[in-house]
Amino acid sequence: MTTTEKNDFIREIIDEDLKTNKFQGRVHTRFPPEPNGYLHIGHAKSIRLNYGIAKDYNGKFNLRFDDTNPEKEEQEYVDSIIEDVKWLGGEFEDRLFYASDYFEQMYQWAVNLIKKGKAYVCDLNGDEIRAARGTLTEAGKDSPYRNRSAEENLDLFERMRKGEFSNGAKILRAKIDMASPNINLRDPIMYRVVHEGHHRQGDTWCIYPTYDWAHGLEDSLENITHSICTLEFENHRPLYDWFLENLGIYHPQQIEFARLNITYTVLSKRRLLQLVQEKHVSGWDDPRMPTLAGFRRRGYTADSIKVFCDKIGVSKKDSMIDVAMLEWSIREDLNKNAQRAMAVLNPIKVVLTNYPEGKVEELSAVNNPEDESAGSRMVPFSRELYIDQEDFREFPPPKYFRLSPGTEVRLRYAYIIKCEKVIKDVKGSVTELHCTYDPTTKSGTATANRKVKSTIHWVSAHHAMNAEVRLYDRLFVKEDPNEVEEGKDFLSNINPNSLLVLTYCKLEPMLGTATPGDRFQFERTGYFCADMKDSKPDAPVFNRIVTLKDTWAKIEQKGKK
Ligand code: ATP
Ligand code: MG
Repeated sequence: MTTTEKNDFIREIIDEDLKTNKFQGRVHTRFPPEPNGYLHIGHAKSIRLNYGIAKDYNGKFNLRFDDTNPEKEEQEYVDSIIEDVKWLGGEFEDRLFYASDYFEQMYQWAVNLIKKGKAYVCDLNGDEIRAARGTLTEAGKDSPYRNRSAEENLDLFERMRKGEFSNGAKILRAKIDMASPNINLRDPIMYRVVHEGHHRQGDTWCIYPTYDWAHGLEDSLENITHSICTLEFENHRPLYDWFLENLGIYHPQQIEFARLNITYTVLSKRRLLQLVQEKHVSGWDDPRMPTLAGFRRRGYTADSIKVFCDKIGVSKKDSMIDVAMLEWSIREDLNKNAQRAMAVLNPIKVVLTNYPEGKVEELSAVNNPEDESAGSRMVPFSRELYIDQEDFREFPPPKYFRLSPGTEVRLRYAYIIKCEKVIKDVKGSVTELHCTYDPTTKSGTATANRKVKSTIHWVSAHHAMNAEVRLYDRLFVKEDPNEVEEGKDFLSNINPNSLLVLTYCKLEPMLGTATPGDRFQFERTGYFCADMKDSKPDAPVFNRIVTLKDTWAKIEQKGKK
């Protein structure tokens, strides 16, 4: 019985398991991040998948930190991950777990395998182990320590735990088969000596379990039914199964799916860390980062990310998703939900020479044409205004229908104006436009039916709020940023224009009351969000979330011609 409208190969497996009563009708998933970095959009896919399945099947969902590697893990990452999972609606209730809490149990299970003659302490170092591992076509060689007695192994393993050996001096290995066609089964490592403080366990441990040893045990302890992971673990599944079978403990089902890759985006944690550490971005939450913290600060809604994740679905085959799909998701969301506003990013002053000095009119502006219930607001209009430099050309090219000397445009929600005179400074730059307005053309009145070719946005100069606006763009110029010329690395694909800061922007007064995190459509310009860190009531800072249209599509088409 399918309890969900979604249909993918993982849900098919679960449906089958429910039919055969494999897990007594239970569905229990988990999201198991290692706290060695911030979560990115790929993790969002995993969270949505695992949480979505638990929810659709009335099951449970755990958040579990796979904190088995003290060298790279930090409390800061733990905190950010919890915040991000909650933000995406991954409700784990009271089921927040740490693999490090299972270390004692894991140790006992290792002792159990040693006693059964299925694990041994080995003195080979990393290079020696690699050399003896063999290749895909050639069997490996047995370690000279492979036939130590259980007593000797128990003694050595205990002394490893007590801290008698230095890093790398000894390891614990599973005794499986050095000739297995699956290299993961050639006596894989279970424990390493690592003298390093752990962010939760302090100095309690100096031996740490490997992912392969630990992961199935964690799943088993938590009664997980379906342990969903990415494709690179497919060849590790026999090992996952081997450990659980040989311990004779509860055995969840591992299922692999293709990880998410997105164009113009880097998703490797190692590379994201490098971007942060080398200060190519301002931090993990830089609005250009593909981290959830970055998307949130940029202004993406959790809903838009959920919609994106659900839309791309899951598959068994690696693929590259077009980043335009992600941008489409946020546009769709904000088109419906964002309040409209007028903002002039590159201002040029307009003086209406026939408009009375000191007069102010309050004009009615629609808050959201897609949502009548959003109502309207009043916008002040006066003799001096700002319009965008983009909307004026002294020498207009053919088919330019916005303002130019002698022509007319409509000011949104206001009047038709005509450009009478261009004022320049000594250097010849345009500083001001002198225009006249036609009082019979006020929007919403009976006489306002005269048509002109363009409508532009504006802001009353006296009432305008000064603001900084940060125009963010894609962080990489290459569709696949990992594809590089010889001798270069992915950093050479960074987009030098991924951030343009405009410090002299003029906003309609309503925007001055925006609280950090508020989102708007600046009419004709894009979607923007008051920056959560830097925006202040008297000094607003807005981030561009996304342009109104996919401007990159145009560029790509031009490039192809
Ligand atoms: P690394 O192992 O390099 O540190 P990771 O991205 O695998 O990085 P984890 O913290 O182990 O980091 O990931 C937690 C979970 O998120 C895993 O179950 C993993 O399968 C899943 N995950 C990670 N990256 C992606 C991705 N790009 N697409 C889908 N799922 C992902
Ligand atoms: Mg991983």
